[in-house]
Amino acid sequence: MPSGDAPRIVVIGAGPAGTVAALGLLRRGARVVLIDPGTPPPFRIESLPQNGIDLLVGLGIWSQIAQPRHRVIVGAVSEKHHQWRSSGPVVLRDDGPFPVLIDKRALHRLLMHLAVQAGADLVIGRARFDGFGRPSLNGAPIAADLIIDARGRRSGSDGLIAIGFIGGAKGRPDALTLAAKPDGWLWQVSASDGTQSGAYFTTPRNLQGLGDRQRRKMIEGISGSGAARVFAPSLAGLSFQPRVWQPEVALLRIGDAALARDPIGAHGLTHALRSGAQAGVGALDLIGGDGPSAAAFFEGRHAASVRSARRSTLGAYQDQTIVSGGFWHDQIARHSKDCVYELCRDPEMSPSLTDQGIMAVPAPYATDRAVVGALAKSGTAQQLVARLALQLPAPMAQAVFERLLLDGVILPKMDLARRRSQPPSSDRIRDRTAKS
Ligand SMILES: Cc1cc2nc3c(=O)[nH]c(=O)nc-3n(C[C@H](O)[C@H](O)[C@H](O)COP(=O)(O)OP(=O)(O)OC[C@H]3O[C@@H](n4cnc5c(N)ncnc54)[C@H](O)[C@@H]3O)c2cc1C
Repeated sequence: MPSGDAPRIVVIGAGPAGTVAALGLLRRGARVVLIDPGTPPPFRIESLPQNGIDLLVGLGIWSQIAQPRHRVIVGAVSEKHHQWRSSGPVVLRDDGPFPVLIDKRALHRLLMHLAVQAGADLVIGRARFDGFGRPSLNGAPIAADLIIDARGRRSGSDGLIAIGFIGGAKGRPDALTLAAKPDGWLWQVSASDGTQSGAYFTTPRNLQGLGDRQRRKMIEGISGSGAARVFAPSLAGLSFQPRVWQPEVALLRIGDAALARDPIGAHGLTHALRSGAQAGVGALDLIGGDGPSAAAFFEGRHAASVRSARRSTLGAYQDQTIVSGGFWHDQIARHSKDCVYELCRDPEMSPSLTDQGIMAVPAPYATDRAVVGALAKSGTAQQLVARLALQLPAPMAQAVFERLLLDGVILPKMDLARRRSQPPSSDRIRDRTAKS
């Protein structure tokens, strides 16, 4: 039980980032108030890759999340491209880094429950922010030693546009499809009765001049299903928050603050969990300990997250033009012959926190000199795995290669500048698929 004179922290937003921050702060003896409207998020199945699972293990909450009775994990990646089924028993494979499928609504519910159980006070309400970034609730300013803004995605001028659609979906959601399309990403849930709903993420440029009917036709063409309803486009980009720490208001912004091309490719959930974990560990230092160092830490990690999200999205695009998503582990072996990988040279890019010595995410090999040496020269997956096998027991070499790829420590070699200006065309996708 925190003492009466312990710092009082108000966390605005009880999504993955806010609740994980609350859990960490409670463990460090703070008094925590969570403010959330209490409205469950829309039904959505999201994928969580191995680095996100590792984070949850490190935080000591994976065992609860994995409990079948909570129904948070609703599926695992199937062998087939990006089509996953959530029906039938879920088998978590322990022979490699496979993403699992999460029911986002159930995840929110469970995390909120864990935070309250650990001692957070939950206040149901929606905070408002004035032009100076000062928050209030029901007209009264929010007073606290530290305020954490974890409201999730907010619109940003750089964002992608999402067009949501419903094809009369009524039945139980059954399968999820993520697909890279020539001009964006399709995220689609099929219900057990065959109806569909989803969203298409694309750039504003692609929607310019399109009226309602043309948008509907476009969605029908892309999704392959009749769209009963197409929503107005909304900004879907994850916005970069240049001022993460606002000392004058004692406000720290966290969440999937990654200026990514899209939330799926960047695995926003992992970014949200990671920034919540960072806040849980370091936020108290902003007000009590070494404030300037803590502030520098947060600014640095935030910028690194932004770059990491951008890279992983671009990497996902790259992989998908070859076959379909090395991103999703299954496919790595299939396109490895064609693809050349290189070690990421940006020291801030490693998404693991171990370089700061703050949290023990199990990725010791990422900073291991011998391993980094083995990867110093670019090469195909086969070549890199062979070089790793000189440093590590052979069965580990493949797993380490795939893990480093998932973590963005090694990346497909590509011309990033060219990629940004020229999204993949469907012809190129077909050509390369045919060749591989
Ligand atoms: C269609 C789609 C598919 C996605 N798929 C994936 C995927 O497959 N894998 C993946 O890793 N990520 C995916 N993402 C991204 C992922 O959902 C987010 O990165 C993640 O949920 C962010 O967590 P968060 O805690 O930062 O914010 P959120 O989950 O948005 O939580 C924010 C919380 O703050 C509350 N809140 C908002 N405003 C206020 C306020 N004013 N006052 C108080 N509370 C407030 C909200 O109610 C909510 O509970 C997807 C996103 C979308 C849109």
